[in-house]
Amino acid sequence: MSKYDIVIIGSGLGGLQCASILGRKGYKVLVLERQTQPGGCMQSYHRHGEDLDTGMHYVGGLGEGNCLHSTFKYLGLTELPWQLLDPEGFDRVTIGDRTFKYAQGHEAFVETLAREFPNERKGLENYAHTMREVGNHLFDAIKPRDEVDFFTTSLFASSTYEYLHETFHDELLINALCGSSLKMELAKDTLPLYNFAQANNSFVQGSYRLKGDGNLIVNKLLDNIRSFGGELACNAEVEELIEKDGKLVAARCKNGEIYEGDFFISNAHPAVTCDLVKESTKLKKVYRNRIARLENTYGMYTVSLILKPGQLKYFNWNQYIYKQPNVWDYYKEEGPVSGILISCRVPESGEDARILDILTPLPWDRIERWENTRIGHRGEDYVALKERMADECIAMAERFIPGLHNMVEARYSTTPLTYRDYTLTPNGSAYGVRKDYHNPMMTLLSAKTPIPNLYLTGQSLTLHGLLGVTMTSLFTVAEIIGKEEAWKITQTV
Ligand SMILES: Cc1cc2nc3c(=O)[nH]c(=O)nc-3n(C[C@H](O)[C@H](O)[C@H](O)COP(=O)(O)OP(=O)(O)OC[C@H]3O[C@@H](n4cnc5c(N)ncnc54)[C@H](O)[C@@H]3O)c2cc1C
Repeated sequence: MSKYDIVIIGSGLGGLQCASILGRKGYKVLVLERQTQPGGCMQSYHRHGEDLDTGMHYVGGLGEGNCLHSTFKYLGLTELPWQLLDPEGFDRVTIGDRTFKYAQGHEAFVETLAREFPNERKGLENYAHTMREVGNHLFDAIKPRDEVDFFTTSLFASSTYEYLHETFHDELLINALCGSSLKMELAKDTLPLYNFAQANNSFVQGSYRLKGDGNLIVNKLLDNIRSFGGELACNAEVEELIEKDGKLVAARCKNGEIYEGDFFISNAHPAVTCDLVKESTKLKKVYRNRIARLENTYGMYTVSLILKPGQLKYFNWNQYIYKQPNVWDYYKEEGPVSGILISCRVPESGEDARILDILTPLPWDRIERWENTRIGHRGEDYVALKERMADECIAMAERFIPGLHNMVEARYSTTPLTYRDYTLTPNGSAYGVRKDYHNPMMTLLSAKTPIPNLYLTGQSLTLHGLLGVTMTSLFTVAEIIGKEEAWKITQTV
C-alpha cells in the first residue's frame, strides 16, 4: 500500500492543475484516472492519422494582463503554441442571412456591434462594463482580505435573460450577443449573469486556439507533475473512498490497489464523488441529497471532419450559424439541427484546413433510450442517429462553406453518451452542474465537503470551461496551501 500527501481522483483539467500546483508546493501527489488516457474532456483521440479534440476548441483571457495569464504562466501553459483568433471577429454569429462579428478588446467589441445597432450603444457600453468588472473579480474568493464582494455575489443571483432584456431593446442584438453561447448552456430560467459575463469577458479580452490538440495541455501539466515527483496511475478507477474516525484515509480502486493519503481531491462529478464515500459519519443524508438533486447542463454532439487536402482555406475564427433568430430555445425543439458552432484546427503547415469540428447541443431525452448501452455496442439506430446528425450539421455548415459535403475524407462523431462513458459525468453533461440564479447558494458548490480532508474541484463547482476550471482549481488548492499562497499564483508576472 502506498501513502501520499494528496490523492486526486480524476485527471481532468481540474485534477491535473491541482496536482501541478500542489506538487510544486512540495506535496507528494498521486492522480488516479479510470481511463487508459489522462485529460478527461481535454483529451484527444486518434483516428485516420489525426488527433481529434473532445472538449477543447478555444480559450479566452490568456494575453498579458488578462484574467488567466498569470495562472497559465505559473502552470507553464503560456509556453504552448497558442494562436490568437482574428481580432476583428474572433466569433462570428450568423442568424438567418446576417452575420455579426465579436471584436477583441472591450472598446472594439462595442464599436463593431454599435455599427450594426447604433441605437444600442449605451447598452453595449453597460454590458462591456459589466464584463470588465466581473473579470476583475475572477479570483476574489481567495483574495486575502475579509470583505465580501457584493458586485460578484449579486451577479450570481441575477438572470442573464432579464439583464439582457433590461439593457437592450433590439431582440436581434440580444440573440447576436448570445449566439456564441454554445460554449455554455443558454437557459432562460436559470443562467446567472455571473457565468455569462465572466465567460464572455475572457473571450473578449482575447481568444486563442491551440496549434495542435488538447493533449498539449494535458502533457504539459503531466510534465510539471512528474518534474515535482508526482505520479499518475491510469486504469485506476476509484470505487471507494474509505473513511476512518471522521476523515478519509484511503482510495480503493477497482483493480484492487489501495492508496492512502492525508488529503483527497475529487475531480469526478460531485454526485459521483458522494457515491464513492460508501460509509461515513460526516457525509450526512442532507448533503448527499442536495448533491444528488442538482441538475446538469446539456451534453453536446460533435462531428469531426477530416478534409481532403487543398479544399478549404483555414479560417481564424469560430463560426456560429442559426437557422432562426431564437438562439435561446432552438435546441429544445425536435427536428433537424438548427444551430451549430464550426471550429477549424490551425493547420500544422500551409494554409489548408485539415480538421473541422461542428458542435450542436444534444439534450439527454433524445438519447436516453440508449442509456444502458456501452461504447461500440449501442446498435444500428444509434449509429443512424449519429450519421443523420452529421449530415444535418454539414448541411447547416454549407451555408458558410458551400460544397463542404464533398470535401470530407472521413468523419467521426461523439454524443453525450460517449462523454458519460468516458468521464462518468451524469447524462454526459458538457458543462457540469447547472447554476441557477434563483438559488445560487444551492447550485454553487464549495471546494470543501463535510469530510474535513476531502475537497472537490472541476467544472461543476462554480464555472465551466478552461476559465472556470482554472479558477476553481485555485479555490481548491487554497483550502490546502492557504489563500495567500494561492492568490500569489494568480499574480505571477
Ligand atoms: C464538446 C465540448 C466542447 C467544449 N469546448 C470547450 C472550449 O472550446 N473551451 C473551453 O474552455 N471549454 C470547453 N469545454 C468544457 C471543458 O472541456 C470542461 O469544462 C473541462 O474540460 C472540464 O474539466 P474537469 O476538470 O471538470 O473534468 P473532466 O474533464 O470532467 O474530467 C474528470 C475526470 O475524472 C475521471 N474520473 C471520474 N470518476 C472517476 C473515478 N471514480 N476514478 C478515477 N477517475 C475518475 C474521468 O475519467 C475524467 O478523466 C467543452 C466541453 C465539451 C463537452
